[in-house]
Amino acid sequence: MTVEENTKAILEELGEVKLVSVTKTIDTDRINESIKAGATIIGENRVQEFDEKCDCIPPCEKHLIGHLQTNKVKRAVELFDVIQSVDSLKVAEEIDSRAEEIGKVQKVFLQVNIGNEPQKYGFGTDEIAQAIKDIQALKNVHVKGLMCIPPFVSPEEARPYFRNMKAIFDEMKQANQGNIDIKELSMGMSGDYKVAIEEGATMVRIGSGIFGKRDY
Ligand SMILES: *Cc1c(COP(=O)(O)O)cnc(C)c1O
Repeated sequence: MTVEENTKAILEELGEVKLVSVTKTIDTDRINESIKAGATIIGENRVQEFDEKCDCIPPCEKHLIGHLQTNKVKRAVELFDVIQSVDSLKVAEEIDSRAEEIGKVQKVFLQVNIGNEPQKYGFGTDEIAQAIKDIQALKNVHVKGLMCIPPFVSPEEARPYFRNMKAIFDEMKQANQGNIDIKELSMGMSGDYKVAIEEGATMVRIGSGIFGKRDY
């Protein structure tokens, strides 16, 4: 299957659910194939890698899905339409001030560490409500959704994490007002997106399912 065929097949299968075509390590020719086949959102993990590729990518929505270091925030705000991987108040504050400097309102998702794994980035399940309260004060940041990466387990074992994430999503949506406008739930990757959708994902992030196995 080609990138084009994979993209078309997945888009058809997803229906209303949004696709993020995950393009880390993928060259711009193959990224363009996916966009030509109908992908409208691409997801990159690293600011610098995307910076080197972005001039050769046709118009589309650009999402950052990897951990963001404070010293890369300025460039990330210049490059990305949505930063899905906001995982601390500190990085949210830095995004706010960099966005203000260039007169931008930066759309973000908040990353939830749904398995509360010590080695993983994201707000803990007991921290996310307070994080949203704190971010209400940051006027150049608009919270449009939540994102999670469950523990690395089989799709069926991931199901309870997706289900819990959906419950948190529904609860956090009740905070929607002003700059808090939570609408998207970004969860599910190539191996487990079907389960994620069954549990309420509105957006999935698929890399190898479109481009094949990555060679790092
Ligand atoms: C790489 C990556 C994906 C896509 O992973 P695949 O298994 O290749 O679909 C999704 N989300 C994040 C945050 C990633 O880093």
